[in-house]
Amino acid sequence: MKSYDVAIIGSGPGGYVAAIRCAQLGMKTAIIEKYSTLGGTCLNVGCIPSKALLSSSHHYEEATKHFEDHGIEIPGEIKVNLEKMIGRKQAVVDQTTGGIDFLMKKNNIDVFEGLGSFIDATHIKIEGKDAQDIEAKKIIIATGSKPSNLPFITLDKERVITSTEALKLKEIPKHLIIIGGGVIGLELGQVYRRLGAEVTVIEYMDRIIPTMDAGLSKELNKVFKKAKCKMMLSHKVQSVARNGEEVIVKAENKKGEVVEFKGDYCLVSVGRKPYTAGLNLEAAGVKMNDRGQIDVNDHLQTSTSNIYAIGDVIKGAMLAHKAEEEGTFVAETLAGQKPHIDYNLIPGVVYTWPEVAAVGKTEEELKADNVAYKVGQFPFRALGRARASGDIDGFVKILADKTTDEVLGVHMIGARCADLIAEAVTAMEFRASAEDISRMSHAHPTFAEAVKEAALAATDDRALHV
Ligand code: FAD
Ligand code: NAD
Repeated sequence: MKSYDVAIIGSGPGGYVAAIRCAQLGMKTAIIEKYSTLGGTCLNVGCIPSKALLSSSHHYEEATKHFEDHGIEIPGEIKVNLEKMIGRKQAVVDQTTGGIDFLMKKNNIDVFEGLGSFIDATHIKIEGKDAQDIEAKKIIIATGSKPSNLPFITLDKERVITSTEALKLKEIPKHLIIIGGGVIGLELGQVYRRLGAEVTVIEYMDRIIPTMDAGLSKELNKVFKKAKCKMMLSHKVQSVARNGEEVIVKAENKKGEVVEFKGDYCLVSVGRKPYTAGLNLEAAGVKMNDRGQIDVNDHLQTSTSNIYAIGDVIKGAMLAHKAEEEGTFVAETLAGQKPHIDYNLIPGVVYTWPEVAAVGKTEEELKADNVAYKVGQFPFRALGRARASGDIDGFVKILADKTTDEVLGVHMIGARCADLIAEAVTAMEFRASAEDISRMSHAHPTFAEAVKEAALAATDDRALHV
């Protein structure tokens, strides 16, 4: 029987990063993945393919709607070849997952293809292509998550679908009904809207992306409405029925009226749930909490001391970079180091266009915590760079402590915000004040100048260009 210092179950961004860091720290490492490709949800059916389709559909929208403004004329009709677009997405996925194979080899990590389940706290049974039992002193569970569903919905995966199917449709929907105005619904909704589908978003709460700052929800809602998406907020879905090629969704509005929506596809994107099926956790004494997550302490250690868990399968935001941080954290903990993660500084991004990005506290959270804060906000339309490229929607908002000026939260919507948020994370990691940011030189003309201007506005209401 092969024996390891560490075995990791699941090869998503949590698992594969943990494996690399363990190997870097000199541990003999194995990784077990039930699918034939490494990379988990993120690389195969999540972050990477969704961003590939967002990019492709963005190019199409630019070509059909904005090229003309720039004096670019394309004679003849511009058409979408969906098969080719989906094929390109798959090529990007294949290249990316192939990269993980390379990294496993480079770091001398043994990869086992098959379903991993506990025999006991130090032995794992692998069933599948590389079937065998292995032994490991420490085990990291990184089995991720699967889409959630509502109890009354049958996901037939043809017309009533999850994100996984939405990433490989064979036709552009005529009318895509989306249940859930969260990250997945909005990113994929924007893809198909750009490609010509009618899109209706049905959201239970009174705003989309309800966990983000309300200012961002409002602005993004405007963007979707401008694109002629129907945004049905405060609607509680009651039923989803299929009639041949038609999907009929009924939802109750705030007035108690039942509203009917008819489309040809319905994407259910109401969140994701931890995935532990087949792990046989009981055999290792690993306990779950009442939310179906694997229970961990501050060291990400489960109820069995040599077994750790990371990523979507435990509490916290279901984000690839959160899973990665936790992978590194556990590897370094196992090596006897004292790593640290500040969960308040894990940024959240929605990769629509304009992009939405945030880190730290929202205004709603600061109010609830009775923190006295000040707000500095700056619109992208006041920036030369934004006007030059024609991306004038959105703003940067900085929330700073009223007394100390320390930056408590940064919320932005606009072009390239997914990248701009890194500056806010850096500043907050070093506990910068708004004035600190405002006194740093930001290259001109850049979108990043909006961060400096918002910081100036927060410091002393002295933004320069508004
Ligand atoms: P996963 O990536 O889910 O990986 C778990 C792996 O474990 C899987 O490969 C699974 O097959 C394997 N596994 C499970 N059980 C077993 C077993 N018993 N034996 C062997 N293998 C097993 N996050 C972002 O930060 N940015 C984004 O842009 C983003 N976009 C997304 C878009 C979509 C459409 C979706 C669905 C998700 C997106 N996410 C994004 C979320 C992100 O994908 C997850 O947060 C991330 O993948 C979690 O990583 P993980 O390592 O915990 O688990
Ligand atoms: P989500 O939690 O982002 O959004 C789910 C939405 O569905 C919420 O707005 C919620 O209020 C709504 N909802 C819940 N029940 C409902 C009901 N009965 N009727 C109508 N609406 C209902 O979840 P998601 O969009 O499915 O994404 C799942 C996870 O994947 C998220 O945790 C997210 O972090 C991750 N993800 C991240 C990214 C990214 O980082 N860009 C992209 C995609 C997915």
